[in-house]
Amino acid sequence: MDLAETLAAIVGPGHVLGPERLALRDPGWCRGSQGAGLLVRPADAAELAAVLRATPGLAVVPQGGLTGLVEGTESHPGQLIVSFERMNRVHAIDPAQAVALVGAGVTLAALDAALEPFGLMAGVDIGARDSCTIGGMVATNAGGIRVLRYGMMRAGVLGLEVVLADGAILDLTTPLLKNNAGYDLKQVFIGSEGTLGLVTRVALRLFPRPRGIATAMLGLDPAGLSGLMPRLRAALGEQLAALEGIWPACYEYVAGQQGLTRRPMAPQGLYLIVEAFGPDDSAARAALEAALAPVIEDGTLAEAVIAQSDSDRQAIWKIREGGGTIGSAGETVHSYDVSLRLADLDPYVRAVEAAAATALPGVQVLVLGHVGDGNLHLMLMGPPGLPRAPCDAVVYETLGAFGDASVSAEHGIGLEKRAVLARVQPVAVRAAMRALKAAYDPENRLNPGKVLD
Ligand SMILES: Cc1cc2nc3c(=O)[nH]c(=O)nc-3n(C[C@H](O)[C@H](O)[C@H](O)COP(=O)(O)OP(=O)(O)OC[C@H]3O[C@@H](n4cnc5c(N)ncnc54)[C@H](O)[C@@H]3O)c2cc1C
Repeated sequence: MDLAETLAAIVGPGHVLGPERLALRDPGWCRGSQGAGLLVRPADAAELAAVLRATPGLAVVPQGGLTGLVEGTESHPGQLIVSFERMNRVHAIDPAQAVALVGAGVTLAALDAALEPFGLMAGVDIGARDSCTIGGMVATNAGGIRVLRYGMMRAGVLGLEVVLADGAILDLTTPLLKNNAGYDLKQVFIGSEGTLGLVTRVALRLFPRPRGIATAMLGLDPAGLSGLMPRLRAALGEQLAALEGIWPACYEYVAGQQGLTRRPMAPQGLYLIVEAFGPDDSAARAALEAALAPVIEDGTLAEAVIAQSDSDRQAIWKIREGGGTIGSAGETVHSYDVSLRLADLDPYVRAVEAAAATALPGVQVLVLGHVGDGNLHLMLMGPPGLPRAPCDAVVYETLGAFGDASVSAEHGIGLEKRAVLARVQPVAVRAAMRALKAAYDPENRLNPGKVLD
């Protein structure tokens, strides 16, 4: 039997796709995702385990919704793509425990639709919600705009079912909130980008859906940011749901692209979007107004515009979401996802702008991000064909001058950041990561070459 026949005997011939059928599928955000030319779609952990046992040593590349942004799903001839698209069932929702047991291939949007009738939701929400899968979000420890309130994906994962490289199935799907029985093995797989095990089911902690939301756009001198944050946190507590930032060059670029004629406020050194939850919209708005009043009064905020309606709210978010269309006019854009301490965010942006002005004439530095989490998304935009290497040098060499900083805040490492991670990681940390990889995947068959070389 050849490989395709072996796989077909396990999953059924309709679920083994060769190059012709693969070519009809959307490759997603990673251009090289279909390079292997062979894809298998097992129905569950048992079928996936049988696939791994029947193909010893064969390299496998797990793929979810293909929305990952760091080339983590790239595959090559001689490898096998594993798709989780048939593991697309929400197995159980337990409103009493506020827990759901979800197949790895369920998209975030599908899960949200299933949870809505119960008044529940998953904590993490990201712009790729229609395509990204719960398994992919666990594998990348996804973040997004609500990390301030609910933490990253890790904070919501109560349990996992994982298939190991040798086909062993680890059932760690306990829905218990408290479980200190031995090592918490699930943590090893969260954020490991498919290099240590393949996630097939997830027990997720759920949260009540907010019944009221209030949103405001704030304008301030960026020097006031680190003073503002503790005051908002103290005033709003758990009601503080999001704090996003947009630097002026990015604001002006997106506003120009969107043909924005009516500005919500005069030009600012930094624009923030703050969102608060409450029992209803007017209570949320009252809480937000009360939190903002003293910081407006003492001049920390230059301006604040609080949305009075849903359309006001959408108008405020439109500029932030416009960040996703930067570069659509044909420019080349290189994107980065870094994190720093709150007080370092604006000094870092200014340092990158200064370094780019010298090393990369004609290149614009556009910055927005999840400011409340210390997470910046930088876009270096220049003429078509702008090479990546000098942009990487500006972004990462500047970052190196700041103490506590990360080269990947939420997108992971994949292939794109492998070299930069190798440069900045302490030797002992790297050795510990290699030891973990060798223990879980001694033949280096799970997403080889990603994260570690
Ligand atoms: C418009 C847009 C907005 C985004 N916004 C955010 C954001 O705000 N915050 C954020 O953190 N990310 C964001 N992302 C990045 C991306 O959506 C997340 O990384 C997401 O979690 C990836 O899920 P996926 O199912 O698409 O995974 P894929 O892209 O298919 O895979 C991602 C990685 O996980 C591995 N993998 C996938 N499924 C499994 C599995 N079941 N078991 C083991 N390994 C697996 C893959 O091999 C790969 O390494 C955004 C992306 C887009 C396109």
